[in-house]
Amino acid sequence: MRRLGHNPVIRERFEKPRPLGSGLMLQPTGQAVLDDLGLLPKIHALGAPIERLYGTDSRTGRVVLDVRYEKLRSFGRGLGLHRGALFGVLHDAVLAAGIPVRNGNEVIDLTAVAKGKRRLRFMNGEYSEDFDLIVDCLGSASSLKVHSLAPGRSRPLDYGALWATLPWCGQGFEASALMQRYQAARVMIGVLPVGREGPGTPDRAAFFWSLKPSDYEMLQRNGIDAWKQSVLVNWPETRPYLEAIKDLEALTLARYAHHTMPMPVGEGLVFVGDSAHSTSPQLGQGANMALLDARALFVALRDATDLADGLGHYARLRRRHIRLYQALSAMLTPFYQSDSPIPPMIRDFLVPYIARIPPAPQVLAAVVAGSLVSPMRKLGLS
Ligand SMILES: Cc1cc2nc3c(=O)[nH]c(=O)nc-3n(C[C@H](O)[C@H](O)[C@H](O)COP(=O)(O)OP(=O)(O)OC[C@H]3O[C@@H](n4cnc5c(N)ncnc54)[C@H](O)[C@@H]3O)c2cc1C
Repeated sequence: MRRLGHNPVIRERFEKPRPLGSGLMLQPTGQAVLDDLGLLPKIHALGAPIERLYGTDSRTGRVVLDVRYEKLRSFGRGLGLHRGALFGVLHDAVLAAGIPVRNGNEVIDLTAVAKGKRRLRFMNGEYSEDFDLIVDCLGSASSLKVHSLAPGRSRPLDYGALWATLPWCGQGFEASALMQRYQAARVMIGVLPVGREGPGTPDRAAFFWSLKPSDYEMLQRNGIDAWKQSVLVNWPETRPYLEAIKDLEALTLARYAHHTMPMPVGEGLVFVGDSAHSTSPQLGQGANMALLDARALFVALRDATDLADGLGHYARLRRRHIRLYQALSAMLTPFYQSDSPIPPMIRDFLVPYIARIPPAPQVLAAVVAGSLVSPMRKLGLS
């Protein structure tokens, strides 16, 4: 917005902006957006390059996930990233651009005022100044979704995850791989190297344990030792990670919901990121999609004759890619998180055999890299 000559103001609910959420995978698509903003060298200096996603079944030892970025030749690699690193680099850039960030402003609604302008309403009863355009980046729980021309419906997913950010322990783990361990699709454990939060800080890993939110109470009742035992039975090498987890409060429960907004715009309003489309993070795309949305909004407004034209163009620029990835995520998640024995049986048959026959390795790498039906050229990215 600042690059287009507008005067954006950021409204944030926290009194002090801070990173929230687990470490993540930044795909080549998201990296390209950051590169265009001149931020990629800083991000690369903090992240952990990821060459492959690799998972085995704990009972059979069979490889049930093996996706290698090298199959894409020049498209790039993944990057494991501490959420604080992504937050810090973006936040510093916002401050350096002189964009005001108004904190402690919890948005609960918006209201139309004269001359097509919009005004935000906050939890404390106050209102914002008037804006020509509100960009909703409030995430999946946004209260502004109802103002979309077509909001769609959110569907909670059965499985979520417990996660923690822990000191990186290399023994038994690849420094450049997201490693996972499964038992059918009921158990899924993941370790992702995420580099460091800031220059000179120690290397960390994101640790995941797949869990149904409805089972969380039972897990708490059984206690941390019982939980650790069930992790160790499946993956003994995780012991150093488990030792760093002193109590269950050190783990955060993430709930997932699937939602695709059919039309991510309203009157003087546009939805970006999880407020427009959220899903399980199985494919590691959410933050990348949010970055692609932001880039698409820039391109659409830059080339538009007026605001309505620009918002329509934004929706069209993102439609195909978003729909494809939301559909892929809905289709593939049960192969890795579900109670049904059928999807993991199919997975266990397909991955060791068919997934090695070209072009399957290339297609799988493109799915993970976010470049299946590549959104890049339309967005002026390389
Ligand atoms: C466990 C887990 C693992 C994940 N792993 C990956 C991964 O590997 N790769 C990947 O790309 N994605 C991953 N994701 C998804 C990714 O985190 C999201 O897609 C991404 O954070 C969406 O960004 P966003 O800016 O749209 O929303 P958010 O990150 O949710 O940001 C919303 C912002 O709005 C603020 N806010 C919220 N409500 C209000 C309000 N009412 N008023 C004012 N401010 C408000 C929040 O404080 C925050 O600053 C993962 C998600 C989870 C839960």
